[in-house]
Amino acid sequence: RLLVAAIVGRPNVGKSTLFNRLAGRRIAIVADTPGVTRDRQEATASLGDLSFRVFDTAGLEEAAGDSTEARMRAQTDRAVADADVVLFLIDARAGVTPLDRHFGQALRATRKPVILLANKAEGRAGEAGVLEAYSLGLGEPVALSAEHGEGMVDLLDALLAHA
Ligand code: GDP
Ligand code: MG
Repeated sequence: RLLVAAIVGRPNVGKSTLFNRLAGRRIAIVADTPGVTRDRQEATASLGDLSFRVFDTAGLEEAAGDSTEARMRAQTDRAVADADVVLFLIDARAGVTPLDRHFGQALRATRKPVILLANKAEGRAGEAGVLEAYSLGLGEPVALSAEHGEGMVDLLDALLAHA
């Protein structure tokens, strides 16, 4: 069966942009408004010779009661549970935030293989954030620009290690 990858991370880090690039079509809504992806999106992605299933998710949020956040969080938990490998995005321009650390820990606890992606790393603005990403304890970050399609070969290499 195809490898299943779930894209997770806090709102606005570029999950849907990556999903759209991997899916090769404009499905997920990309927006500046955090948390805009409310429902799970799913597609078959191709990267080099590798075909795999990919899920987009809403941004990881702290669950709070019967809220939209709770629904989004539950959706992310389900995507992680269903996945063979987790693509955990951070925004390299923003650096590692407390929310990134919180969910980095949660992902470590799941014992799922995690590929740490430092997105928005085009140009030099993301360099410090890429280095900071090592401190999440999830291994070597892959510097990526989902918007500009940079770092996709490195992402493929990381995926092939789990295929
Ligand atoms: P999501 O909430 O994690 O799904 O994030 P989106 O995919 O909706 O993207 C949030 C914002 O980040 C949008 O304005 C995107 O255009 C922007 N963005 C996504 N990827 C990149 C990237 O590689 N570089 C830069 N500079 N911006 C990006
Ligand atoms: Mg989204």
